[in-house]
Amino acid sequence: MSDRPTAGDPSRTAPAARHDAWAWHPPLPLRPVPVFMWPPRPLAALRYLASLTFLGSIIAPFGTLAVLSWLYLQPALERCAEFRADWILQMYARNMGLMLLVAGGLHLYFHTFRRQGAERKFDSRDLNTNSRKFFARDQVLDNMLWTCASGVTVWTAYEAGFMWAYANDLLPFYLRMDEHPVWFVVTLFMIPFWASLHFYFVHRFLHWRPLYRIAHALHHRNDNVGPWSGLSMHPIEHLLYLSSILIHVAFASHPIHILFHMQWNTLGAATSHAGFEALAFRGRPILMLGSFHHQLHHRYYDCNYGNPFMPWDRWLGTDHDGTPRAMAELRRRRRDELRPAGGHT
Ligand SMILES: [Zn+2]
Ligand SMILES: [Zn+2]
Repeated sequence: MSDRPTAGDPSRTAPAARHDAWAWHPPLPLRPVPVFMWPPRPLAALRYLASLTFLGSIIAPFGTLAVLSWLYLQPALERCAEFRADWILQMYARNMGLMLLVAGGLHLYFHTFRRQGAERKFDSRDLNTNSRKFFARDQVLDNMLWTCASGVTVWTAYEAGFMWAYANDLLPFYLRMDEHPVWFVVTLFMIPFWASLHFYFVHRFLHWRPLYRIAHALHHRNDNVGPWSGLSMHPIEHLLYLSSILIHVAFASHPIHILFHMQWNTLGAATSHAGFEALAFRGRPILMLGSFHHQLHHRYYDCNYGNPFMPWDRWLGTDHDGTPRAMAELRRRRRDELRPAGGHT
């Protein structure tokens, strides 16, 4: 798991060398969320859980979308007892429609019509329209193809598997909202943290050199990102990345949790790769989108494997907080890794 692309790998060194300055970034150093701190800061943690970043940009919008999907866009569970094309295709069409709406809408708003200009845009460059790395030399078209052909398919397959299991009563627990309303909501709040833990370790595995070359390099062709880059991955990466959903086999859940978990992992990848930190209105953020922490990963590759919700990178020594000191530390770590074993220290 420790193998990473070598310093000689052009995908790792070229973008950083050419584009060192950011057009915009949040205040640095990036700070860890106050939920996982020692000594604990319970008030700060509660404030974070009720913040625009967490409640306002994850739980409320994705929770509402999951409930609406369950009520109006989900085939009745009785229909899901057997794997049949009709209900699976209905879910596939819904997921494709949601992805087109979210990633397509964000792309048109921010990158095509530039409705927010450069406000809170991390990278000054436009998305690539002339590179042999991408299908038809077009980054967005290429990203759309991987997202729609593989991403939406794997996403739907996991969801369909769970709906089939619920319909056949195969899962050990079914969490009813009317019987356990508090636990129902607590589970919703815990999903991003579980997904965060899972993402860090799966992502490090994807940077293991053989797997990086076969699968994850495809996502990393996007050294600058837009909404369609989020789920633009190799099918192997889709299978691994979205496997965080399997926790619900062992953890009491409702189909709404399945929809929330998957929609946040897929549509949320479109928002987190938007290239802009937030949707702003009159200079104030009204919806938090892009993650500068992950934007740093796309530029520098061997840091920030996790997401900002849990400080795994800090705990395991792979953090880049955006400062020159962190950059120097990253370069030192790379030199150490390249130094032959038994060489001078
Ligand atoms: Zn990414
Ligand atoms: Zn990566």
